Amino acid sequence: AGKIGVLALQGDVSEHVSAFQNALGSSGEVSLFRDASDINRFDGIALPGGESTTIMRLIQKAGMFRPLQQYEGGIFATCAGMVLLSSEVQDDSLFEPLGVMDMTVKRNAFGRQRESFEADIECRGLDTPFHALFIRAPVVTRVGYGTEVLASLPQGYVAIRHDLHMAFSFHPELGGDLRFHRLFLERLGL
Ligand code: GLN
Repeated sequence: AGKIGVLALQGDVSEHVSAFQNALGSSGEVSLFRDASDINRFDGIALPGGESTTIMRLIQKAGMFRPLQQYEGGIFATCAGMVLLSSEVQDDSLFEPLGVMDMTVKRNAFGRQRESFEADIECRGLDTPFHALFIRAPVVTRVGYGTEVLASLPQGYVAIRHDLHMAFSFHPELGGDLRFHRLFLERLGL
């Protein structure tokens, strides 16, 4: 049975827990974690949406920066989580991201007029569009070699896959469509 851990420092933690519980079914186990002591027992971890500067400060405080960089399972990251996983944050020297995925992100890329919105977007690997919810969302403006872009909008890339990891500008944990969760779990052999 699969084990998923959800980083529970700040952000939409419970939504990630419910989505993974539903995607894994009764044989799976979803736990919260707040330090790095047992992250290597998880097949995959989720980095929630929230406020990336706050979450990064708490990651540093909990001594999790290096352990997250070195984590060998899959990482499922949404919104602020996408910012944390990136290798470069454009126009923003507030913090150094984890650099787990070779990509440049731009925070709050849709501006003030469009702080949040919904859109049906075509995604590589899905038969029908995904109804995506964007909340003060980042976009990816550059990806490194070997990184797969699953979806884009005119502002930039909004769904990215690399090795075992997936990162989204929007929130697949909201709305009940678990197709991305299933793709993530499949690649982990779950
Ligand atoms: N704008 C936030 C940030 O960059 C992300 C918003 C979200 O996670 N919904 O931290």
